Amino acid sequence: MKFGTKTIHAGITPDPSTGAIMTPIFQTSTYVQEAPGVHKGYEYARTQNPTRTVLEANLAALENGIDAICFSSGLAAMDAVLKLLNPGDEVIATDDLYGGSYRLMTKVFGKYGIKFQFSGISDLGKLDALITPKTRMVWVETPTNPMLNIIDIEAVCQHVRDKNILVCVDNTFASPFLQNPLDLGADLVIHSATKYLGGHSDVIHGTVITKNTELAAQLRFLQNAVGAVPGPQDCFLVLRGIKTLHIRVERACHNAEKIAAFLQQHPKINRVYYPGFESHPGHEVAKKQMRMYGAMVSFDIIGGREEDARKVLSGTHYFSLAESLGGVESLIGHPASMTHGSIPREERLKVGLTDSLIRLSVGIEDVADLIEDLEKALDQI
Ligand SMILES: *Cc1c(COP(=O)(O)O)cnc(C)c1O
Repeated sequence: MKFGTKTIHAGITPDPSTGAIMTPIFQTSTYVQEAPGVHKGYEYARTQNPTRTVLEANLAALENGIDAICFSSGLAAMDAVLKLLNPGDEVIATDDLYGGSYRLMTKVFGKYGIKFQFSGISDLGKLDALITPKTRMVWVETPTNPMLNIIDIEAVCQHVRDKNILVCVDNTFASPFLQNPLDLGADLVIHSATKYLGGHSDVIHGTVITKNTELAAQLRFLQNAVGAVPGPQDCFLVLRGIKTLHIRVERACHNAEKIAAFLQQHPKINRVYYPGFESHPGHEVAKKQMRMYGAMVSFDIIGGREEDARKVLSGTHYFSLAESLGGVESLIGHPASMTHGSIPREERLKVGLTDSLIRLSVGIEDVADLIEDLEKALDQI
């Protein structure tokens, strides 16, 4: 089954009791048993819910895994993955990481004796220097947020293959339409389904996908034992969003390509970060491991003044000033004060995350309107 068919059909069959073509929202907490232990596979809704079961089968197919385990948010999915570890274990993670992931690692799991090191993982020499006999996991985010660096997933996986180290890829920024880390050797993929999978900015949801039966069983255990499960309505919304994933992401990527080209030639812009440019240091790897170059674009205003960035941020009409990404509508954000405000300024500046950096999540509107919108906002500088 090709990707654009999987989004609509994989794991989904009409409801057997009514023929309803859309998966029903099973808004129930428990299921009646005929006799003690005699039931239809569903006992209690933390453990199993039919709406969730369908979504999980669909997500597993999209990432070419054997199982997808769903959670009430992307961070809850990540929490489950980190709970596979034990005190004393070490994790090496991408340095340019989603702020909430950084916080979960350092402020929550750090307390339980798990050690995290952050590094530009694309340099395998640097990665090697951090690996110790206690290293149990490498956490990769690619493209990174907001600098849009690219990490070679296959190279990282091959590099640690014989070392008893799990590789987990946060595939949120790419979506399964653009990139399938399990095919490149990763053990686990997580998504904040809040973003491209849901796609309509109306739900918070997360998932972990694997093709390793043992990891799937451990995660399934954690899902039930910890209980951060998504509600059936949220599962329905994600299922509904996925049906147009391939169409939405493809259109958003085309729009992003045109917007990046427009920004690149604009006299008030200093640098544009977009992996689709041949001059981007990760371009060749992106070309190899992604289907298109994504719909996130970051850029820096010439002169580096925050006040200029603020004029642009409040000067757009179709680009809404908001955190998050991956919805049908375009968003604009200021990483230094919004998503990455908790990172010390000196640390930010080291990776190019300046006070005048602006991040776009390009939506699926008509690109001519989006470019005109940015042009008008840039005129206000
Ligand atoms: C949003 C996001 C998360 C967290 O997901 P939530 O659904 O907000 O909990 C994790 N990783 C990345 C890359 C994200 O963009």
